Amino acid sequence: MANPVLPSSGVLSPLGLDAVRLSPGFWGDRVALNREVTIAHCQEWEEREGWIGNFRGERPRRGREFSDSEIYKLLEAMAWADHPGLPALAEIVAGAQEGDGYLNTRWSGSRYTDLEWGHELYCYGHLIQAGVARLRTHGEDTLTRVAVRAADHVCRRFMEGTQTCGHPVIEMALVELYRVTGTERYLEMARRFVERRGLPALADIPFGRAYYQDDLPVRQAQVFRGHVVRALYLASGVVDVAVETGDEELLKAVEAQWERTVARRTHLTGGMGSRHADESFGEDYELPPDRAYNETCASIASVMLSHRLLLATGDVRYADLAERTLHNMLATGVALDGRSFFYANPLQVRVPAVPLDGVNHAPEGGLRSPWFDVSCCPNNIARTLASLPAYVATATADGIQIHHPTPAEIRHGELAVKVETGYPWDGAVTVRALTGGRGRIALRVPAWAAGARLTHRGEVREVAPGYAVADGPWRTGDELRLELPMAPRWTFPDRRVDALRGSAAVERGPLVYCAESVADEPPLGDLAARVAPPVEHHVDGVVELEVAASLGGGESSGWPYGHEPDGRPSGADAGLRLVPYHRWGNRGPATMRVWLPVG
Ligand SMILES: [Zn+2]
Repeated sequence: MANPVLPSSGVLSPLGLDAVRLSPGFWGDRVALNREVTIAHCQEWEEREGWIGNFRGERPRRGREFSDSEIYKLLEAMAWADHPGLPALAEIVAGAQEGDGYLNTRWSGSRYTDLEWGHELYCYGHLIQAGVARLRTHGEDTLTRVAVRAADHVCRRFMEGTQTCGHPVIEMALVELYRVTGTERYLEMARRFVERRGLPALADIPFGRAYYQDDLPVRQAQVFRGHVVRALYLASGVVDVAVETGDEELLKAVEAQWERTVARRTHLTGGMGSRHADESFGEDYELPPDRAYNETCASIASVMLSHRLLLATGDVRYADLAERTLHNMLATGVALDGRSFFYANPLQVRVPAVPLDGVNHAPEGGLRSPWFDVSCCPNNIARTLASLPAYVATATADGIQIHHPTPAEIRHGELAVKVETGYPWDGAVTVRALTGGRGRIALRVPAWAAGARLTHRGEVREVAPGYAVADGPWRTGDELRLELPMAPRWTFPDRRVDALRGSAAVERGPLVYCAESVADEPPLGDLAARVAPPVEHHVDGVVELEVAASLGGGESSGWPYGHEPDGRPSGADAGLRLVPYHRWGNRGPATMRVWLPVG
C-alpha cells in the first residue's frame, strides 16, 4: 500500500497511490507538474547550493545545520513519484553514513552536542520518511537500508535517558517505520520521545520552552502553541503513537488541542501561525491579516495532522480543514509554473515586493522565490504533492469514502470508480462505476455546502454537510452525482478577531478569494466593499468574482484618528475584481488583500 500514513487501526483506512490515480484536473495537473518540474528544480538548487555536495564530503560544508533534511524530503518526493533520479541520489547519501548508522553532514565529529538546535533527529525523521516511502513504492534498496540503519542507531543511542530533539518529526517517522517493518522498538522509541516532552527534555531558551513544545507534557496541553511546524509535526506523531498503542486519552488530548486551535488560532485560508517572531502561533484570536506568517510547511503539517485525525476518528471536520488548507495554502505555496514558492502566506500585502536576483527574495511573502536559504517549503511541497493521491479517498469494510473531489480513478475491493468533476470551479461531482460490484460510496459534503443534492438511480435528494452515501450493487456505468452549491459567500470574522473588525471576505466553494493589484491597477489600501452578491466571471477556466467597492484617493487628514467613527472612502462604487487566493502573485509584484473593509 503506497501511503505516507498507514495506521494499523482506525475508523477509516487510507487508499494509497496504487488505489487512487489522479486524472487531469485541479490536483492531477499540479501533481504532474510537481513530478515533471518541481522535483528537478529542487534537485538543481540543492546541487547548486552545495547541500548535496555536503554528502560527498565537499568542504567547506554549505547550508544551514538542517540542510540534510531537504535532500531527504526530495528523496521522499522522488520515491512517491517513482522518479528515476532517486537511486543515484540515494547512493550519494549512503556514502556519508558512518559505521554505526550515524548520518549528519553538519555534526559528524560533535554528535548530539546541541539537541535543542542541532536538528540531528529531525534530519533522521525525514530520512526515515523517505525510506518508508521507498519501501512502500519499491521495496528494499540503498535508501531503505540507510534509513533503517539510522533508525536502529537512534534506538540504541536514545532509548534510555531523557533526551529528545528540538524539532519534532522523528516521532511520526519512527511510527511509520514500525508500521512498515513490524519492528516494535521503533514504536517504543517514538512513544518515549513523545512522553519525554515537557518533563522537560530540553534546555530553556530565550524563546521559552513553548517554542519547542517542551513547556508541558503533551497530555496536559490545551492548545497548539510555539513554533507551528514543530507543534503540528509533534501532534501528528502523537496521533500515530496513540493509534498504535491504543491510547485513547492521548488521542483525545490532541483532538481537543486541534479543536481549540482551529476555533481560535487559524486563518481563513487554513494557515496557522500569526507571528513572524519565532514562526509561532499567536494568542487566541490574534489573527492579523498583514502580519500573518502562515508558513507553507505549517499548512502541510496541518494537513498531515488532520488526515491522521480523520483516519483515526472518521470525523468529517478534519477533512473539511484539510480541504481548506490544501486549496488555499498548499496550492498557493507554489507558482503556476512549479518553479517558485511562498514561504510566508500573509492575507494582506500592502506594498509590492521588490524582485531580487538569487535566492530568498521576499521570504516574508509577497513574491514567490525559486529558493530560500532555508528551503523547507519547496521540498515539503514536492513530497506532499507527490503523495497527494493518498489523501483523496479512504475505505471501510463496507465501501469507499471520497473526501476530496478531483478527477481520478479509485479502486478498492470490488469497486472501481471514475470521478469526474471541474471542482473547485464547478460543484458537480460524478462518480461512475467502471466495473460491477457491491459497496457503499460516500462523498464528503463540506460544511459550507448546505443545500447540496445527490442524484442516485434517478432519485434526487438533498444531503446535509457530512457524507452523502449511496449503496450498491453497482453495474458498470452506474452513476452517482453530487451537486455542491457554488454561489459565492460573504464571510465575517468572529468579533474577537480585533485585526479583522469591520471587514469581510468572499469565498466560493473551497476557495478563499482576494483582491490583487499589480502595476498601474488601483491600489487596495483605502476601500469599502458592498456586501452584495458578487458577479462571477469565467476567465480561462478560472472563476473570478467582482464586488462593488468604493476606492479612496489616498488623501491624508494629517492625523489618522478622530472623534467620530470614520466613514466610507470618497470614491464612487466601482467593480473590484477578486481572484482565488491561490492564484495571487503569479502576475508579478502586487498588493493583495483577502479581508475587505465593508460598510
Ligand atoms: Zn517551510
